[in-house]
Amino acid sequence: MADKVEEEIRSRVKDLLAEVSPADVHEFRGAQFDKGLALVHFPEGYGGMGVSPGYQRIVLEELANAKDNSKDVRSDLLLNPIGIGMGMPTVLSHASDEVKKQLLRPCFTGEEIWCQLFSEPGAGSDVAGLATRAIQDGDEWVVSGQKVWTSLAHVSKWGMLVARTDPELPKHKGMTYFVMDMKAEGVDVRPLYQLTGDAEFNEVYMDEVRIPDTMRLGERGQGWSVAITTLMNERVALGGTVGPRGSGAIAFLMDTWEKFHPEKDTPEYRVRLDRVMDLWVKAETLRLTTQRAKDNSSVGTPGPEGSVGKVISSDLNKAIYACAIDLMGAAGLIHEKGYTLASREMSDSSYRTFSVSGSFLRSRANSIEGGTSEVMRNIIGERVLGLPKEPQVDRDIPWSEIKRG
Ligand SMILES: Cc1cc2nc3c(=O)[nH]c(=O)nc-3n(C[C@H](O)[C@H](O)[C@H](O)COP(=O)(O)OP(=O)(O)OC[C@H]3O[C@@H](n4cnc5c(N)ncnc54)[C@H](O)[C@@H]3O)c2cc1C
Repeated sequence: MADKVEEEIRSRVKDLLAEVSPADVHEFRGAQFDKGLALVHFPEGYGGMGVSPGYQRIVLEELANAKDNSKDVRSDLLLNPIGIGMGMPTVLSHASDEVKKQLLRPCFTGEEIWCQLFSEPGAGSDVAGLATRAIQDGDEWVVSGQKVWTSLAHVSKWGMLVARTDPELPKHKGMTYFVMDMKAEGVDVRPLYQLTGDAEFNEVYMDEVRIPDTMRLGERGQGWSVAITTLMNERVALGGTVGPRGSGAIAFLMDTWEKFHPEKDTPEYRVRLDRVMDLWVKAETLRLTTQRAKDNSSVGTPGPEGSVGKVISSDLNKAIYACAIDLMGAAGLIHEKGYTLASREMSDSSYRTFSVSGSFLRSRANSIEGGTSEVMRNIIGERVLGLPKEPQVDRDIPWSEIKRG
């Protein structure tokens, strides 16, 4: 059975490559979606083939091996990371058929970029405490409030928004989930500059923004359970794309080692080699563990195993880039030529993505974005290891009565 699916996938990818050039990104990815090769675990007609998510590896392998075309094949993570990694599974699990038809394909092709409007100045780890209000007005909702750290909001067409619809209910019960048009009247996006010099994220102000009720995902008051689908998929997306052996951050380190390793047969060489090899083994162990989790995962809301990959890969990324900077010695202290202090071109910024110092600085955010490592450890403790839950004194009282700073 498994072999038949594999054969079918390989043959569909071959047809795809014969019919459309990957150089035309949107057309190629549109055809990939139509052939069910976008996310193979999605149902037929929605970009998938209804098979186990582990089979996505075959698509990636075939695309990477396409001799003449592989350099043009764009990775989901660079093209539309939030839309594909988190928006698509949430829409698939919670939207009407009509909304799925409208949103899934242009999300996968990258024609419509997505962002995630969860965090607020007073609600990050405790996102269920959020204060942005949505009030129903006929078949529309009127939204006012502020979000923060919203990655890619400045280039987004759609935002996944959780807003408070019933302040008199306990915090987890009074929220509703919407897909908001980022170009709608009343949406104001302002850049926030990071340590790297990039402004990949933003503050987003909403002043009486109107959202049609058709763009509500889940029932009124079910925003928390819809948000869990987004958050669990975010952890899986951040915790690991499963590339080929030796790819990703560790390839970066090997490259730096080639250029900057100490003189051979010196004690320094042996000590540094030991550190690099230790990181390589850890990266390979994580890659195989992530692949195994992907093979076993089911469609919709992944389990807490996403938190394990997320916490380990955050620490590992930091250690890898710190090692690369150390190998560079004094050269690691300066930015390479081309560094600008204020860049908004995050998605195509080859300098940021591929320089050692840029990647080192960016890796500091890994243990904060998508939920901090402390919060991931709480989830692993409670949901994987079965340890007692943290006390939550405000869980059952109306949100409006919770004291806020
Ligand atoms: C690069 C980057 C991109 C981001 N992109 C987005 C985005 O696109 N959309 C979005 O909505 N958000 C985004 N975020 C926000 C991110 O989700 C939050 O920063 C994160 O959830 C932490 O929230 P906070 O910053 O409010 O910190 P706080 O929640 O105030 O936490 C402060 C400290 O307290 C610790 N802490 C808090 N609660 C607990 C607890 N219960 N147990 C133990 N320790 C605890 C935390 O670990 C942290 O060290 C992004 C963040 C970064 C860095």
